[in-house]
Amino acid sequence: MRELIREAGRVLKTEEWILEELERPKRVLKGWLGVKMDDGRIKHFQAYRVVYNEARGPGKGGIRYHPEVNEEEVTELAFWMTVKNAVMDLPYGGAKGGVKVNPKELSEGELERLSREYVRTFHPFLGEDIDVPAPDVYTNPRVMGWMVDEYERIKGKHEPGMITGKPLALGGSEGRIYATALGGIYVLEALGIKEGRVAIQGFGNAGSWFARFAQERGYEVVAVSDSKGGIYTEDMEVERVIEHKRETGSVINFPGARNISNEDLLSLDVDILVLAALQGAVHRENVEKVHAKTILELANGPVTPEADRVLGERGVTVIPDVLANAGGVTVSYFEWVQNRTGYYWSEGEVQEKLREKMGRAAREVEERKEEYGVSLRKGAYILALERIAEAIRARY
Ligand code: NAD
Repeated sequence: MRELIREAGRVLKTEEWILEELERPKRVLKGWLGVKMDDGRIKHFQAYRVVYNEARGPGKGGIRYHPEVNEEEVTELAFWMTVKNAVMDLPYGGAKGGVKVNPKELSEGELERLSREYVRTFHPFLGEDIDVPAPDVYTNPRVMGWMVDEYERIKGKHEPGMITGKPLALGGSEGRIYATALGGIYVLEALGIKEGRVAIQGFGNAGSWFARFAQERGYEVVAVSDSKGGIYTEDMEVERVIEHKRETGSVINFPGARNISNEDLLSLDVDILVLAALQGAVHRENVEKVHAKTILELANGPVTPEADRVLGERGVTVIPDVLANAGGVTVSYFEWVQNRTGYYWSEGEVQEKLREKMGRAAREVEERKEEYGVSLRKGAYILALERIAEAIRARY
């Protein structure tokens, strides 16, 4: 990612001191969260909050609960958020947080105490004008609800805009739950890709909502997969597949469909391949098998840099994560705006504003691609650097 910013810097002839400023995070907070477990013992969990850059506005980015969380990863993700927020022209810098924990081993009560302790540890550096967290891997609206409640108790006032992805009852926004998927659809449409056969790797929140919206809008969804494998069928009824996964825990063995492996899914003869599962899903060893003309990166970093190069040479359009999956953070921004004004929008209004914002960003990225003769990914980094550099420059 940093190399992409460097390349964008060469294209834009950005001052060296600005590029240097973007090589390091602005603020790295580390803490040990002491949590009373159900058996009365106290356990300590390593926690982080990194604000990578705040030239364009307060920090913004999710908090992840995962056993592999470490400072380096959180910092990289905070940088990624800085770029994504700038591509979308949201008035934010970029941030990320994390706790090194396996949430599946915690009871609900332990998870609540851990989440509240996170806020007690970092609250002086959180706030609607300072740094605004959101859900990420293994955190959800319930966790955001505990966090906003703890924050408001400490501060003795209401401040729902200190965090986004909240339950609706605490100031959450309509449309947040499926915003990433719908944002991806709006980007495809804005780039003129309005039909075609679609295969989707990953059938969680992003992938399953995407499948639903895609089918509604006339794309032909022919294959989907999850961690257990995938299915292929020419006439897929997405709603029934969602139901099947809810009942059996996987999309596989769906009546009337052929079971396929995740590798088979990548090599299907489809127009659009949607990557909505893991980082690094398309890599050097399997990139040759990909037949799709367009790849939509709903996951973060699902195409490795090496594979990206190969796809570029073959003329495959890769719609980069910093644009393709930015619907989530964009509706987070809408939530923050609604919290700050105290005026709440209907679901239709949220969708319309999302369509407008995703469409504009997609066209701006495409303009950079054409102007500089680069990929959409490089176009996105050029656009982000233009905006971030302008804000940094104006502050010195
Ligand atoms: P999720 O946990 O709900 O779903 C992940 C899906 O991927 C599951 O269906 C899982 O079975 C599947 N999967 C796991 N390993 C797989 C494998 N090896 N092969 C195929 N499928 C596999 O997560 P999500 O919220 O849908 O997020 C998916 C990706 O999108 C992540 O990379 C996430 O960071 C990114 N993302 C999500 C959002 C959002 O708002 N949900 C926003 C931005 C980016």
